[in-house]
Amino acid sequence: MNEFPKVILNPAKERSIRLMHPWVFSGAVKRVEDNVKEGDVVEVFSHENKYLATGHYHEGSIKVRIFSFGKTNFDAEFWNVKLSAALALRKALGLINNSVTNTYRLVHAEGDGLPGLIIDVYGNCAVVQAHTIGMYQSLAEISKALLNLKEIGLDCIYDKSADALQKQTNIVEANRLLAGDKTDSIVVENGIRFYVNWEEGQKTGFFIDQRENRKLLQSYTQGKKVLNTFSYSGGFSMYALQAGASLVHSVDSSKRAMEWCNKNAELNKNETNHHFYQQDAFDFLKSNSAFYDVIVLDPPAFAKHLSSEKKAIIGYRNLNTEGFKHIAPGGILFTFSCSQVIDKITFRKIVFQAAAQSARNVKVLHQLSQGPDHPVSIYHPEGEYLKGLVLYVE
Ligand code: SAH
Repeated sequence: MNEFPKVILNPAKERSIRLMHPWVFSGAVKRVEDNVKEGDVVEVFSHENKYLATGHYHEGSIKVRIFSFGKTNFDAEFWNVKLSAALALRKALGLINNSVTNTYRLVHAEGDGLPGLIIDVYGNCAVVQAHTIGMYQSLAEISKALLNLKEIGLDCIYDKSADALQKQTNIVEANRLLAGDKTDSIVVENGIRFYVNWEEGQKTGFFIDQRENRKLLQSYTQGKKVLNTFSYSGGFSMYALQAGASLVHSVDSSKRAMEWCNKNAELNKNETNHHFYQQDAFDFLKSNSAFYDVIVLDPPAFAKHLSSEKKAIIGYRNLNTEGFKHIAPGGILFTFSCSQVIDKITFRKIVFQAAAQSARNVKVLHQLSQGPDHPVSIYHPEGEYLKGLVLYVE
């Protein structure tokens, strides 16, 4: 077995790691061996010198992010085993060799036991995003292991880590292809076609986490007038149109979103009932008095850190209050928050306040989360970042 430098824990702070929580906070660390650098692989030991786990060392409040609770050499075999396990779960979900859906998340960081690593699959291309230097340093091994997954048959790998890491360090190269030559593609999701450009798009190119929620939207949109705010490339809009919505309005402030949303409507031969507004969603809602049968509110994360939680709460409350104003009697509101720092209970309280402010009678029909290809480790509840409510508004 390879030897890695040691991180020794304080006796009173060992419980969390024994319960397989993947983060070691700075307050739990008693001692770090000399010469350990940002991104190094380290082994975590108890104060009695018993091995507990292996992970990446980082400066900041989370000192070690654990990727193994058993001794590992962290070599090619490690990556083959981890990625095969991730593949096995997506297979169980019916996402591999699926004729109507060829885009899914293959690796969801802590949810797949790989903190700091995201891998999204778009047909035969994988877009990899390292969120830590530790993971970034393994990109060559990760690529090799990805190409070994014959069942997926990848021929293209794009590294989009610079977006997530470049502000922290100068060792990260610009986004680049690690294999193949594709930077965009047309993918299918539940039989609906989407143009995805991972080079220029937001995140890895598409918001795959909403797949199941978009499917659910279809059961409420036949013959309905639908408003999709923060639409990006029109994920929810295309599903509503395909389900036979009489009219869909998509609103997003980004010009790229407009181009791609219109392109997707065209790809699915659904342009006639669709209109895109390139506008601030708050302005659109405030300056418009139209009523809709179904409204989707899926804003970007208003809070990325606890310090902005208060501001985010106000933002979500205002947005939902505006949303309620535009729902026709007997209409449906799909409302989401993807801020990790706003938990499920807080989000529900915010929506409750918005409902009360709007003086509407509101019933909760569904409580939503991210799709199952974005799994949450039961030992890491923080992984459940997407919260959604489907409401019936009288
Ligand atoms: N619902 C989308 C994903 C939304 S991501 C899907 O299913 O694919 C959030 C989107 O909000 C981004 O496209 C971003 O361009 C847009 N956005 C951010 N701030 C905005 C604002 N103030 N008004 C309108 N759109 C905004």
